[in-house]
Amino acid sequence: MPGEPQADCLFCKIVKGEIPATVVRETETTVAFRDINPQAPTHVLVIPRLHYPDAASLAAAEPTVLADVLREAGEVAEQEKVAGTGYRVVFNTGAGAGQTVFHAHAHVLGGRGLEWPPG
Ligand code: 5GP
Ligand code: ZN
Repeated sequence: MPGEPQADCLFCKIVKGEIPATVVRETETTVAFRDINPQAPTHVLVIPRLHYPDAASLAAAEPTVLADVLREAGEVAEQEKVAGTGYRVVFNTGAGAGQTVFHAHAHVLGGRGLEWPPG
């Protein structure tokens, strides 16, 4: 079934509490936790509880949950006090763009200068 947990998925295991994570926010549909290898002073991942391999497939199947992920990205930025100085929300999509975990996730990055265009 689309959206069902995948046994071999790291982020499904974090959703189920089988792997520990530093959770900063939770909702009925999302979990936000600190990235294990932070690339900025604030680096939080916001994931849907449902398993979809990337943001576009989540948007196609569950558009309100993708909206939840984006709203939570904004709430994380407020909570982490980077909303005022600016932050970046990134969905790496595909191995060629650096995606390594194929469970949709938003990176919320802030607390330092963020170059544009990104690398
Ligand atoms: P991607 O490269 O797929 O866009 O992002 C995956 C992110 O997950 C990476 O930034 C990586 O550091 C993070 N990550 C990988 N394994 C773990 C883990 O076990 N716990 C946490 N908190 N983050 C992880
Ligand atoms: Zn998953």
